[in-house]
Amino acid sequence: MEKKDYRPMWKELGLNLEVHDQLLTVLGNAYKDIYMSQENRPKGMQYLDFVISEAHGLRIEELMETKKKGNKVIGTFCVYVPEELILAVGGTCVSLCAGAEIGIDEAEKVLPRNTCALIKSFMGFKLAGLCPYIQASDLVVGETTCDGKKKAYEILNDYKETYVMEIPQMKTERDRTLWRGEIIQFKEKVEQLTGRKITAENLKEGIKIANDKRRALQRLSALRKAIPSVISGLDALLVNQIAFYDDPLRFTKAINDLCDELEERVQKGIGVTKNGTPRILVSGSPMAVPNWKIPWIIETSGAVVVAEESCVGERSTRDLVDEKGKTLDEMIDAITDRYMKIDCACFTPNEERPAHILDLVEDFKVNGVIHYSIQFCTPYTVEAYKVEKTLQQKGIPVLKIETDYGMEDIGQLKTRIEAFLEMVKG
Ligand code: SF4
Ligand code: SF4
Repeated sequence: MEKKDYRPMWKELGLNLEVHDQLLTVLGNAYKDIYMSQENRPKGMQYLDFVISEAHGLRIEELMETKKKGNKVIGTFCVYVPEELILAVGGTCVSLCAGAEIGIDEAEKVLPRNTCALIKSFMGFKLAGLCPYIQASDLVVGETTCDGKKKAYEILNDYKETYVMEIPQMKTERDRTLWRGEIIQFKEKVEQLTGRKITAENLKEGIKIANDKRRALQRLSALRKAIPSVISGLDALLVNQIAFYDDPLRFTKAINDLCDELEERVQKGIGVTKNGTPRILVSGSPMAVPNWKIPWIIETSGAVVVAEESCVGERSTRDLVDEKGKTLDEMIDAITDRYMKIDCACFTPNEERPAHILDLVEDFKVNGVIHYSIQFCTPYTVEAYKVEKTLQQKGIPVLKIETDYGMEDIGQLKTRIEAFLEMVKG
């Protein structure tokens, strides 16, 4: 089928068509090499293949359509921004985190070189005119998590108005009070932007949509416990990545359909791995599209990734918002409590995270943990020490990796990962 020409839409959005074409070519080639070369993929992945192929096309067209109906699109960078409030007023929440090197030269004109690649990438996408999602957003929401992000938002604000939520650094009662206040202020901001009131009725619906999406992703996560693995780590990561862009109702249905197929695979003993394939947990910094580097190296080195302890992974889906609340106040409380459970390395102390990694190792019958930090990501690079120590005390093999979005270190990483996998085979 002839692909639709989206160039007029991209032009109207203010994209740099020439560089954007380069991005799509790089993305298309990488997808073909990394994803389409996998064998025995579940049929349900065809939906995800389609969504990724239309990530800058049909999906953006849908966003422009919904905007025409008076609905708003809100771009975010962190799983701390409560999607429920956006969904309550018919808004769409899209992630603006980026995982590609292209555009980084532009970013380095305004940011120090030793900034994490995720920050440089989203800044570069904006400055180089590469991201239709930020162009389509009616509001961009940042947050005070790591220092790199919060200072970068001050610069981003010069190019696109950026509203910043204050995320506490600790988890005391005082921090909860601060965070609840931030949620209420964000609710007012959303109401002002959309001209629509958030009520107990529509918030209940927003909570349900977000929870249903999380439930589908939790179902997928649970299916990854099966031996042999019924889905590759790369495919599961893609699902988690697309969760941040796709229409939530359609996505939830597609993932539940995929899970039905995977359940059948479990029953029939069909898998994507052979007996004895090492089962790896990847833990650490988030992997935004198209950052597939580490799982790709792991899975082309004879192992399978069975879980991601990451915000693009189970950290953003493991907790639901309690649905029992009847009044607006009770629902805001439930949202506050749910988000306070997120164990991002930006918090101190963050003992929950190493403890949770141990639980994952047991639940998913993990043979080894690869701790992944984006280079210059201070929170995860520093916290890697505690994670490593906790795992070593239990005799669980762990490999710490620090890398960026470049491809120059692929050979070196492959050598290190292969040596690690030899060790975990036992
Ligand atoms: S790792 Fe931390 S800063 Fe990044 S998305 Fe997750 S909660 Fe937000
Ligand atoms: S990867 Fe680390 S440094 Fe980069 S934005 Fe996330 S928390 Fe900040």
